[in-house]
Amino acid sequence: MKISLFLTILCLFGCNSAQKQQKMTKNTKKIVIAHRGASGYLPEHTLASKAMAYAMHPDFLEQDLVLSKDDVPIVIHDVHLETVTDVVDKFPERKRKDGRFYVIDFTYEELLQLNVTERFDAKTGKAVFKNRYPLWKSKFKLHSLQDEIELIQGLNKSTGNNIGIYPEIKDPEFHLKEGKDISSIVLKILSDYGYNTKEDNCILQCFDAKELKRIRQELKSELFLVQLIEFEEDEKHLKEYATYADGLGPWYKHILKEKDEQGNWQTTNLVKEAHELGLVVHAYTFRADDLGEFTSFDELLYVGFNTLELDGVFTDFPDKAVLFLNSK
Ligand code: CA
Repeated sequence: MKISLFLTILCLFGCNSAQKQQKMTKNTKKIVIAHRGASGYLPEHTLASKAMAYAMHPDFLEQDLVLSKDDVPIVIHDVHLETVTDVVDKFPERKRKDGRFYVIDFTYEELLQLNVTERFDAKTGKAVFKNRYPLWKSKFKLHSLQDEIELIQGLNKSTGNNIGIYPEIKDPEFHLKEGKDISSIVLKILSDYGYNTKEDNCILQCFDAKELKRIRQELKSELFLVQLIEFEEDEKHLKEYATYADGLGPWYKHILKEKDEQGNWQTTNLVKEAHELGLVVHAYTFRADDLGEFTSFDELLYVGFNTLELDGVFTDFPDKAVLFLNSK
């Protein structure tokens, strides 16, 4: 009896310190999120891209989620298929009136028949990022959220690392119109794999504020939640976001202003205001092959982490962001 009580207390202490460490990582350490995997090097959201990203030691790997016809969450960025797969060749008759092919019109088994490639323009057939992985080389497939969690948890076991997942609920309103409650389906799977609270190594993100609030209040999720924002006017609602979310995910270009006369980048007050409300800020998307006015990726990362004081960045090049943080 005494021994079991002792063991229970010991476990509680152990669990508590691991939990604290996890919470510290999300709240205080600057983090790198592998955006769609190592998507600067391999076709986005493929398991190959995720395995490569994992080996680059980011803090989190990102999963965009869209449901199949039979309610399997597929790891894919768009609700459409024709910009990253050969759906037009394999199922030419399955397009809707708008000419597009929807993930939600295909069963999981059918989706597995598609080949995946680097993102391309469906009209021209040309790659979106011309210096990235070549189109239609080798063989890549779509996969489910479950497949990806098992890959990451499997690697956590075999490497001894503890890399988290960062799933995004894509277009919940579209799913609802199609008769599907994507959030409930995803939350159940996350729970089955041990992701239930803020202490678990998972951050859930969504652009739809109404839905993220529903996830917290109606679906009673205790996960760490990040409110993605797309438009500058969304920044007015920070206080509202802070009532249910733990973090904010803005586009970095919206919080960066012009350089001043001395050549220093000026910023909006968004990050400061978010921090005052207790929200962490993880901005998207840092790309070494889309530098805009920056002369190097390190300069862009410096501005992101130091000038903007971001807590984390979504990047297609996780190796470079990890190296940047480690070399500081
Ligand atoms: Ca995303």
